[in-house]
Order: sequence, then structure tokens, then C-alpha cells
Amino acid sequence: MIVRKNAAEIAKMEASGAVLAAVFDLLEGLIRPGVRTEELDRAVERFIRSRGATPTFKGYRGFPAAICASPNEMVVHGIPGRYALKPGDIISIDVGVTLQGWVADAARTFAVGPIDAASQRLLRATEEALYAGIEQARVGNRVGDISNAIQTVAESAGLSLIRQLVGHGVGRSMHEDPQVPNVGAPGRGVRLMEGMVLAIEPMTATGRPAVRVGADGWGVYTLDRSRTAHFEHTVAICAQGPRILTPWHLPPDERSAAEGALEGSRGP
Ligand code: MG
Repeated sequence: MIVRKNAAEIAKMEASGAVLAAVFDLLEGLIRPGVRTEELDRAVERFIRSRGATPTFKGYRGFPAAICASPNEMVVHGIPGRYALKPGDIISIDVGVTLQGWVADAARTFAVGPIDAASQRLLRATEEALYAGIEQARVGNRVGDISNAIQTVAESAGLSLIRQLVGHGVGRSMHEDPQVPNVGAPGRGVRLMEGMVLAIEPMTATGRPAVRVGADGWGVYTLDRSRTAHFEHTVAICAQGPRILTPWHLPPDERSAAEGALEGSRGP
């Protein structure tokens, strides 16, 4: 069942999303060679709780931490631990924030110091694929339009999409209907309506898309050990267009302007 949100509810999700965007600002300053992923986890949990919110992932189906920290060939669901970041690593961090019962979900892959050219392309193209997908999150389009836009951008950059992992509706629960695959045909799937809120999240690899689950039952790795990236925003479908509720990657003073620009990019 798809749960549509009214304007007041979307405003509450935007408040959760603002905490989450600030988490990514915090991570930006913390991620460097030598830092252990468990240290990032502790800092993020402390920050989220200091804002009166809770880390959505902690305890979710038994997940033990506030963040998923997935380095290099790990796609998602990495449990933070003793692993210390090395120069040239890439690290995907996925975080959920619940504030007053409303969930925001976002992810981003960071470079640890200078990274090789193939990894730079991986990160850039995956982020571009995310924004191409978001651009299609409009009333009257279908889920397949989002999926196809993501697939087109990622595959034209020579990346493969991890097909078993998909985006999803989000609201009072972290995972709601509909599923939002990262591959698909335009004009197919669920019709997008005002008030739907989606976590759009391309997950890509430089090599082949086959994945396996690691020994801890959580971490998902590429079978061929190729590097992977994951970029995710929580996006509300509004009459004026897509509204990004988790505007990481922009300085706070530019966030509202950028959102406004995106909202205004097509008429109602
Ligand atoms: Mg998600």
C-alpha cells in the first residue's frame, strides 16, 4: 500500500531530512585516512541524538549501528567496526534519521584522500544517475521513468547497476511501497502521485553486478570485488516537482536556493 503524505507531513519529513543533511556535513569533516568506521558511527549517533532524533537503522531487524559503512567492494549494509580508512579508499555511508516518528533516508559515497580516476568516475556518474532519477520524480510519470533515467546515466558511464537492491517509499516506516528499481523501462510501473515520498538510491559497480552477502549476514559485496558506489536522497513528489528532503552535499545557505531551483524547473 502506498501512503501519500500531506504538506504538514512532508514538512515533518523535511525536518528529519535536515538533521540527516547535517550528518553528512559532519561526516565530510570526519572522513580521513586512519579513522575507524566505528568512530564515524559513534559520532553520528551522538549527533543524531543531540538533535532529539533517533538513528533509524539501530536495532532495525537487529542491525547493531546507526550507520552502514561499506568500503570499496562492499555495496551496502556494512557494520561499522575496527576497519580504518586507507588513502585511496571509497566509503559508502547510509544513514536513517527518525524525528517525531518520521523517517529520512540518505546515502553518499565519500573519497578518502585522493582516489584513482576510475573511482572518481564511479562516484561522479552514480551521483549524476541519482539526480537524473530525481528529475523524473514528477506527478504523472511512472516509477519506470525514474528507473530508466538512473540506468541510462549509469550504463552510459560504463557502470553496472546492482539489480537486487532497490529504492523504496519512505514515511513513518523506513521501507514502504512502492519499490523503486534502478533499472527499468520508461512509462512502466506505478504512476507517481502528489504526496508520494521515495528514497531513490542507485547502487553501482565498476565491474559486474553480481553480489553476495558476507559472513556476518549483513555486508553485501560484489562477487568480482569491483568497487561500488551508493547515492541516495529522500524525495517528495510535490505539485511543483521533486523536492529533495535530505539536501546533503550543498552548503546550508545554498540548500534552500537549490531546492527552489529544482522545484521551479518545470511548471505545475
Ligand atoms: Mg534506502
